[in-house]
Amino acid sequence: MRGLYRTLERGGIGVFESPTGTGKTLSVLCSALQWLEDHRRRMERGEGGAGGDPFAAGGANGGSAATRKDDDEPDWLRDYEKDKSARDFAERMKRRLERRRNARRAAAAVDAAFFAGQKHDERDDRGVRKKRARRAGAAPVKLGHDSDSDDDSHAPLQVIFCSRTHSQLTQVVGELNRTSFGGEDGTVNAVAVASRAQLCVNPEARAAAGASAARLNERCLELGKPKAKGERARKGGEGGGVGGRDGADGADKPRPAAGSGCPYLKKRHAAVADLADAALAAPMDIEDLAAAGTRHRACAYYAARKALPRADLVFAPYASLLHKETRESLGINLKGSVVVFDEAHNLVEAVHGAHGSVLTGKQCEAVHAMVTAYVDRFYTRLAVGNLRHLKTLGALARGFAAALGTDKGTGAKNSSNDSSNAAAAAIGEVKSLNDFLFQCGADNVNFFALRRYLRESKIAHKIAGYGEHDDAALGVGVVSDKQTSANHTSANDQAPRQPRVGSVHALAAFVSALASADADGRVLVERGGEFGGRLKFVLLDAAARFKQIVDDARAVVLVGGTLAPIPELAAQLFPDAVPEEDGTFEGANDEKSSAVQHGKIPRTLTTLSCGHVVPRDALLPLAVARGPSGRALDYSFGSRSAPEAIDELGRLLANACRVAPGGVVVFFPSFAYADDVYDRWVKTGVNSEIARHKAIFREPRAAAKVEKVLRDFATSVRNGEERRRAAVAAHSGVSENGSVGSSGVPAGRTGAVMLCVCGGKLSEGINFKDELGRLVVMVGLPYANPEEPELKARMRHLDLSDRKVGSAAEPTAGGKSRGRAYYEALCMRAVNQSVGRAIRHVGDYAAIVFVDGRYAPPGAETGRMPPLGVSSQLPEWIQERLVIPRGYGEVQSGLVRFFRAHAEKERAGASSGGG
Ligand code: SF4
Repeated sequence: MRGLYRTLERGGIGVFESPTGTGKTLSVLCSALQWLEDHRRRMERGEGGAGGDPFAAGGANGGSAATRKDDDEPDWLRDYEKDKSARDFAERMKRRLERRRNARRAAAAVDAAFFAGQKHDERDDRGVRKKRARRAGAAPVKLGHDSDSDDDSHAPLQVIFCSRTHSQLTQVVGELNRTSFGGEDGTVNAVAVASRAQLCVNPEARAAAGASAARLNERCLELGKPKAKGERARKGGEGGGVGGRDGADGADKPRPAAGSGCPYLKKRHAAVADLADAALAAPMDIEDLAAAGTRHRACAYYAARKALPRADLVFAPYASLLHKETRESLGINLKGSVVVFDEAHNLVEAVHGAHGSVLTGKQCEAVHAMVTAYVDRFYTRLAVGNLRHLKTLGALARGFAAALGTDKGTGAKNSSNDSSNAAAAAIGEVKSLNDFLFQCGADNVNFFALRRYLRESKIAHKIAGYGEHDDAALGVGVVSDKQTSANHTSANDQAPRQPRVGSVHALAAFVSALASADADGRVLVERGGEFGGRLKFVLLDAAARFKQIVDDARAVVLVGGTLAPIPELAAQLFPDAVPEEDGTFEGANDEKSSAVQHGKIPRTLTTLSCGHVVPRDALLPLAVARGPSGRALDYSFGSRSAPEAIDELGRLLANACRVAPGGVVVFFPSFAYADDVYDRWVKTGVNSEIARHKAIFREPRAAAKVEKVLRDFATSVRNGEERRRAAVAAHSGVSENGSVGSSGVPAGRTGAVMLCVCGGKLSEGINFKDELGRLVVMVGLPYANPEEPELKARMRHLDLSDRKVGSAAEPTAGGKSRGRAYYEALCMRAVNQSVGRAIRHVGDYAAIVFVDGRYAPPGAETGRMPPLGVSSQLPEWIQERLVIPRGYGEVQSGLVRFFRAHAEKERAGASSGGG
């Protein structure tokens, strides 16, 4: 991890690829924390270099003034100050440990009272808090809905550790707690931040919000509003709103009144502060923090925000960090921080997703109806400016609906009411913002002003709150929040239906996206479908938005098991970065560092791809160009559906299943193709041949069914393995399949085969370790449809951009355009993710068969040789072992030898008592 340490010390960008099972996450985390500790000590001792620390949170020049002063000081004074700094540092560490111990004791007392069923008296909290504050000579901490001021000294520099999901972060917190940095005796102050949706502990607010995160935010803020305003709103609808008079605030809903204060925050500030201390004292994951909030009867969301400035280490999901407004709303400050993105293989898509926004035709209809009703009801009480904004909002909703052909008033075909259209595939068309807005008649709308109005007036919530009471009168059905999802194609994947409050928030988010759009924004218009079509704001280029993070942070580190092809990943996210070997920037220079902070000098890029920890003979990757009958294997889109191609694949898989023990995992390029192949195999009897050796399972399209199928697959594999192991123990010989003794082959199956899809649920995050994945078969290359409108627009935009591929790293082979390079990288990342499901730890072993001539280009059939073409975009630990057999015979014999060798090892281990 020297490369990582160097990157953090110097500042810049690091991309580190290391296969699963190598302990990369913990290594990166511990290296970053060790660096943080070292760095702080150095800063305390005034060893920040000639220019001080140019990246400290105080800004590019934050550390330099003090250090410049050193130049004029005599040596003895400098030494004295250094010693004093060291003593101060030690003293602060002592105080911090004491505070951590106290916080843990206090939290344990609350927990004990909770589990004993006693009610914790909040007056006790206040008394203790005041006493502590008096002892420390500080004023009691004040906390409010919109104020997170903290009297503690802020951490001057933080490590912000991001992963895609909360469950991944939970794992990392668990691992941290097993190191000397984490746990109860650890030295690191860590906190996990998340949205109210994860951390709100007020059951009434949650119930009122349903499943809408936006509504929960609004509900929480509404509870925190000054009481007088809330009461006025309830009585006459005159409170709130920009300009003052609008705001019929939900009228007579049976819920806690606005301004009444949340019982988990109001008068519970001491408990919230204690919870913040407890969170810092022993790293907690999101679930633990929320559970502690419930026990302490203290808001976990505000406790996390309160703890945030004092944390050395912040855990945050991608969604909380990638969008500027979201991270600002959570109080995350990237200035001078170290930001680590774990599992970064999909980071480009995550940036696109974080800035995208979806609005359906039905939502447009609902908003138009609600705004109209709201204006009619409160017309006489609305200020002129607010009335104008509301009318604009209504007109926009109508214009958007018209663009989708769902506006009843336009006389256009209403596809949402046409059942024959409901099942039809949506037709997509990508438009520039100008064209789209012109078509909607909205080209003269000031989206910046409208966005500000929506934000400041909270009008979305007011309209929705009013509209909820009037559904029947408006004649608009209930709208599901799920409609805003980009992936709502599966009929089995429906979310519970929610109040249509989501519609107003969806429109507000869409307006916000339009207002923030640059030249790299487009609108995808999809007409038809069950939700009356949809509009999607599409961000074409992730680099411009990611640049804000790169510019603010001291260092940005991407970590993953399968980041290849790394040059393309770098080109998508930081095209201006300079590869380390070519870099001229060495840091520790005021002028240059300041320029870097302002994005004028490219950041240095360090890349590293580590080998696997497994022995060389634990992995056998084969690139297969010809099938059992000698037929050339071509699974490109135009050729793969030929019956001969499917039959050849069937023969190859049946042979492989005969010799592979345990689980075989096959990845197809798409669900549609997997269905075609399966149907043909059933017809031709290939299925029966495979089923003689392995039970067949298929990845379900519906996410809800995946877990059961996986469970059944694992049971089937383990049953087969038990039989195989029993046979190995009972017989001395090992058959060609390495699975049973030569004189006691058990009749029946030796495991199971799972037919999955690249990019499906089973291709990411699922662990096919040990016997669950002894053989992985990759069929073809999962290129996306280049005619898909969003992809086409993105490729075109990248092609037209003036950045060259390879400006951030090695030029792409063949000098392909940036759009083409992006397209290929999408495919290869899907391949690399899929094949990375096997070999999950140091004792694991597996074979990988790449079935397509494109993995083994002509002339390459000479055994081991440097990978060419797409093979050169596989992870290095696969590339360096890749075998390209001369013919199919070598494929089958290679597999036989590989599995036999491991079976013999296993038998030798068993007979020597080693298991
Ligand atoms: S203050 Fe906290 S607990 Fe109360 S509603 Fe807001 S997020 Fe929920």
